[in-house]
Amino acid sequence: MSFGARARISRGAIQHNLQIIAGQSPGVRVIAVIKANAYGHGLVDVARILAEADCLAVARLSEAQEIRGAGIDTPILLLSGVTSSTELAAAVDKKLQICVHNEPQLAMLEQFGAADLFAWLEIDTGMNRLGFPPAAAQAAIRRLENCAAVGKLGLMTHFANADNIEDPMTRVQIAAFSALCGKFDGPISLANSAGHLGWSQELKVFDAFRHSGRLFIRPGISLFGVSPFPGKLGAELGLRPAMQFEAHLVALRSIAAGARVGYGGTWQAEQGTTIGVISAGYGDGYSYFMPEGTPILLNGRRVPLVGRVSMDLCTVDLGSDAREKIGDPAILWGAGLPVEEIAQYARTIAYQLVCGVTKREKRKFED
Ligand SMILES: *Cc1c(COP(=O)(O)O)cnc(C)c1O
Repeated sequence: MSFGARARISRGAIQHNLQIIAGQSPGVRVIAVIKANAYGHGLVDVARILAEADCLAVARLSEAQEIRGAGIDTPILLLSGVTSSTELAAAVDKKLQICVHNEPQLAMLEQFGAADLFAWLEIDTGMNRLGFPPAAAQAAIRRLENCAAVGKLGLMTHFANADNIEDPMTRVQIAAFSALCGKFDGPISLANSAGHLGWSQELKVFDAFRHSGRLFIRPGISLFGVSPFPGKLGAELGLRPAMQFEAHLVALRSIAAGARVGYGGTWQAEQGTTIGVISAGYGDGYSYFMPEGTPILLNGRRVPLVGRVSMDLCTVDLGSDAREKIGDPAILWGAGLPVEEIAQYARTIAYQLVCGVTKREKRKFED
């Protein structure tokens, strides 16, 4: 066994989370969002675990090609759509569904010739990022319906602020989208994790779509057992965290009062203590921005990070009566140390921490 950092991934947790998410709205279809290396959990392995979902979604063509290259034939939605006719041809070839979010993409489809693409017209209902404004939707729908390359058409939108249950923005977006859906008889898609888990009452306006199997939600982070809501844990939503990020204690140092630790000597011991060196650094995805005092779980004991995180290593203060020994396991986040909590220390979101786990160490998949 190597002492390097590694991400341990639970297949059972991902399957459980998919069931919890789908089970909350009978009839709903799930587009499992696994962009960015499946939020750091490992793209192809996670695609296999989720192969029974109605559809997978990724942000980049290369990710979709990697999944197809592994022999997985679950439908895949390409969230960013395509940027050239070469990419469009590749999407047709790999049987991808594509988002159409701007005029050049729409024009490209019109010029492509006959195909049987499943295209999703993205409507910008207030996020002001991707998509056609609602006022342009009917014209774009008509053009896509008359487009020889398009065999099936869906309508989609994306929430900007669904993780904030106090913010009326989501209600405004739902109203804008449902006004367009009234006259639409194809499939529709909305609701990221926070939208689905936090706004189920408001989403009832789409029940006719749900009951006819035409409502597709797009959960990402929740599939991995992580909460999309600030101040709330995945476990409180009935989800099971899928990733444990772990390393080992690789060295111990007794230092005297006044001694400094690590690059820049930014931390100085107030009294004699034992420093533990852990085999995880920013080269593994344990951020340089983790501040002093961030807890690491060593043999079930929370010990504080001290000094700067370096590329392969970080250091903790074990105190003067340390009993730890070289080789002891350390948990950076996982059982007993939720990634949502560590994200607060690093002043970031749990999404960034799990996505940031690098490819240096192989993921270890377990049931
Ligand atoms: C990333 C993404 C999602 C998933 O969002 P989560 O917050 O991870 O559930 C859904 N839809 C689109 C368009 C996305 O880009």
